[in-house]
Amino acid sequence: MHRRFANALVNNEFVLFYQPVVDLQTGEIIGCEALCRWPQPDNTFTPPDTFIPQAEASGFIVQLGEWVLRTATQQAFAWQKRFDVPILLEVNLSARQFVHYNLVRSIESMLANVQYRPDCLEFEITETVAMTNADDSIGIMRQLKNLGISLALDDFGTGYSSLSHLKRFPIDKLKIDKSFVRDIPNYGNDLAIVSAIIAMAHALGLKVQAEGVETEAQAEFLRECECELAQGYLFGRPLPPDEFEELFERYHRGGLVFKG
Ligand code: C2E
Ligand code: MG
Ligand code: MG
Repeated sequence: MHRRFANALVNNEFVLFYQPVVDLQTGEIIGCEALCRWPQPDNTFTPPDTFIPQAEASGFIVQLGEWVLRTATQQAFAWQKRFDVPILLEVNLSARQFVHYNLVRSIESMLANVQYRPDCLEFEITETVAMTNADDSIGIMRQLKNLGISLALDDFGTGYSSLSHLKRFPIDKLKIDKSFVRDIPNYGNDLAIVSAIIAMAHALGLKVQAEGVETEAQAEFLRECECELAQGYLFGRPLPPDEFEELFERYHRGGLVFKG
């Protein structure tokens, strides 16, 4: 498997899609999440939920992660220059990448090469990754924060969380997992969970981003709870770079906002 991955990387088979991230209060696109895709010869995609765990198991994720980071920051840098606005770039880090001994140094030198503003970069790690060896995780997080990078806990609410650790993590944001957003506004328990996560995050001084927002009713509920940011099919699917650029241009130059 490692060899197949390595060939795919050399042959430029992987691509990155970008999903818009929207400020729920103003309706503006403020950034994007980079999501990796592996197109196959039969025009299908191998979903990342399949190949990322395989890349993780084989150790290839470290190389793939470097490619993702370099490609995404180069792209976001080009967009920032073109549109003359800061664009928040969210990049996923998997478990093995996060604990790789060389992570911080390789990110530092990559940022220097790409000349990318670290304050526009945010790494996402899942709570389970962060909670495993919490003390080590806090050390790595601090080093990343020292580079000026923001940190978010991804898929919040689905993993194994300890609130006593949570308050010690130098993170900036919680991302509410889409499984809680899906049944808003019909399922009372999810309304309670989502509003409680948002209130807790705010009390800890963290921002909140909801994943998987597909309907206006979901966006409205999240807005009422003062959730700051959202992503989901309501605003835009993960898009190839040229299509994201077109969407961003339409909204940015045209002064358009998503309604709400
Ligand atoms: P994630 O980081 O939680 O990404 C959000 C997932 O939700 C993405 O799935 C996205 O396409 C999907 N999504 C976004 N909006 C909606 C919506 O409105 N409804 C629904 N049902 N789904 C929505 P995707 O792209 O299949 O990625 C799955 C996971 O694979 C990601 O979850 C992330 O954990 C991992 N992944 C993707 N790219 C990378 C990468 O470059 N590096 C690493 N380490 N992991 C990655
Ligand atoms: Mg993510
Ligand atoms: Mg997520």
